[in-house]
Amino acid sequence: MIRKLDGFESERRSYRCTICGRAVRYESPLPKQYPFCTERCQMIDLGRWLQEEYTIDRHTTPEDLGESAEFEG
Ligand SMILES: [Zn+2]
Repeated sequence: MIRKLDGFESERRSYRCTICGRAVRYESPLPKQYPFCTERCQMIDLGRWLQEEYTIDRHTTPEDLGESAEFEG
């Protein structure tokens, strides 16, 4: 859930890291690690995400994934 910030907070270019909550200032364009403050936090998020996927077992169906269903062509 990445929100667009154009027009909103355009003067104050900053965001909060979704992992540690640290405020991050940046010059345009957005940093590649957005919405995280550092690559470290990015990796933490990725790690969490992967862990969740493993713990979910195999109950996920293509329908659950919705948008990314490339099967139906
Ligand atoms: Zn962070």
